[in-house]
Amino acid sequence: MTESLATVAYLGAAILFILSLGGLSHPETARRGNLLGMLGMGLAVLATIFGPRVSQSGVVAIVIALVLGGGIGLYAAKRVKMTQMPELVALMHSLVGLAACLVGFASYVDTSHPLQGAEKAIHAAEIYIGILIGAVTFSGSLVAFGKLNGRIGGKPLLLPGRHLLNLLGLVVVVVLGCWFVQSASLGLGMLALLVMTAIALLFGLHMVMAIGGADMPVVVSMLNSYSGWAAAATGFMLGNDLLIVTGALVGSSGAILSYIMCQAMNRSFISVIAGGFGSGAPVAAGQAPQGEVVAISAAETAEMLREAKRVVIVPGYGMAVAQAQHTVNEITRTLRERGVEVRFAIHPVAGRMPGHMNVLLAEAKLPYDIVLEMDEINDDFPDTDVAMVIGANDIVNPAAQDDPSSPIAGMPVLKVWKARQSIVMKRSMATGYAGVDNPLFYKDNNRMLFGDAKQMLDEVLATLKS
Ligand code: NDP
Repeated sequence: MTESLATVAYLGAAILFILSLGGLSHPETARRGNLLGMLGMGLAVLATIFGPRVSQSGVVAIVIALVLGGGIGLYAAKRVKMTQMPELVALMHSLVGLAACLVGFASYVDTSHPLQGAEKAIHAAEIYIGILIGAVTFSGSLVAFGKLNGRIGGKPLLLPGRHLLNLLGLVVVVVLGCWFVQSASLGLGMLALLVMTAIALLFGLHMVMAIGGADMPVVVSMLNSYSGWAAAATGFMLGNDLLIVTGALVGSSGAILSYIMCQAMNRSFISVIAGGFGSGAPVAAGQAPQGEVVAISAAETAEMLREAKRVVIVPGYGMAVAQAQHTVNEITRTLRERGVEVRFAIHPVAGRMPGHMNVLLAEAKLPYDIVLEMDEINDDFPDTDVAMVIGANDIVNPAAQDDPSSPIAGMPVLKVWKARQSIVMKRSMATGYAGVDNPLFYKDNNRMLFGDAKQMLDEVLATLKS
């Protein structure tokens, strides 16, 4: 394949990636978006393998790597449960970071194309920045993986003087970087790279360890953005235009998502990207809720739903765990056939990844027009007869608004307690991801339906149909 044909193929792939991102912005077009992304990636891989910069022996090595990597990816994708997707995504981000580091070190020791003067300095800067972003992404994503799958506790690790430590690390990295770009010695340059990599790894680790439970969504989308910039940096090191464009697309869309998440969580975007997220003060435990918890049965829940005129369903992580979305769809259809207005309220951080609930509801084929974002529906709760919370906890916790000492203080939540009746469906009194008690459970107009969401909803459906 000639250079110009490869460039045209790269251009086509870049356009497909942009169309793919456009498609992913709505559940209705997401499938098409995915397909376009896959087509773009297929085209990019083919243009790279058969492009002018890969030799015959290179093709063999790439095909072996493709079969190996693709095989592992396929195996992982087939095995992973829907609830494990967020941690898989975090692991993928860490691999992008690792790749950027490895490419950086390989570029540094590769002396087959000696550069001089400004070109040499620019290439050195590309290597330094690429490894820096890659290392932060790698270690940060590994900690995020641990926090998402519960191997690392949700409590933030707040080292004394952590901001000072971060600042010190930054100064050392900048000074070393200036020296590295001008350095002529391969050995000393390697030492500088290794020291910087160690600092960057520690920074990534420290940054994500310092994040408390409920703030994780912002970090996940931010690491997504970092992985894009790491890929773009790899593109610069390898002189691959498509990788630069693709990395920039992922980096900027991840940054936009982080910004949206910050707004949804009422957090400062600047303090997130600086890694100094949250307050420096130790996180308070929040006030312990008081009152009595009233449990109800699935049959009583069905009765309440049957008599209601307006119902709002709030799905959360527990619905994903129980895989209850299809039963939710059935219940919705049954209620709507009886003339009950049913709508869904989606919190931006419900579940464990952005859009988690939308994906599940779309999979269950719920009509999109009754699925509303938090801002669209939050004022409607006072006119709602029954707000049914399915496996959600943090996103409906009134302490976020009423208790300034709560770790989730300031986070906007769905005000289900303003409905005439709220019903919370979960297995126990356990806390949610943020580890915070929920006063909603003790409110006079709240009832608890204890049990697995799928099992309980099956019983509710059976009663509704009887
Ligand atoms: P939560 O984690 O706050 O609560 C989920 C609740 O579901 C739990 O309290 C649990 O209670 C219940 N549950 C679990 N399994 C079942 C089951 N089989 N049947 C019924 N109930 C079940 O989830 P939310 O969706 O309310 O909030 C999301 C949280 O995750 C927020 O804190 C958010 O910040 C965080 N997060 C979100 C990310 C995102 O991108 N969306 C990424 C990372 C973190 P019990 O054990 O008693 O059943």
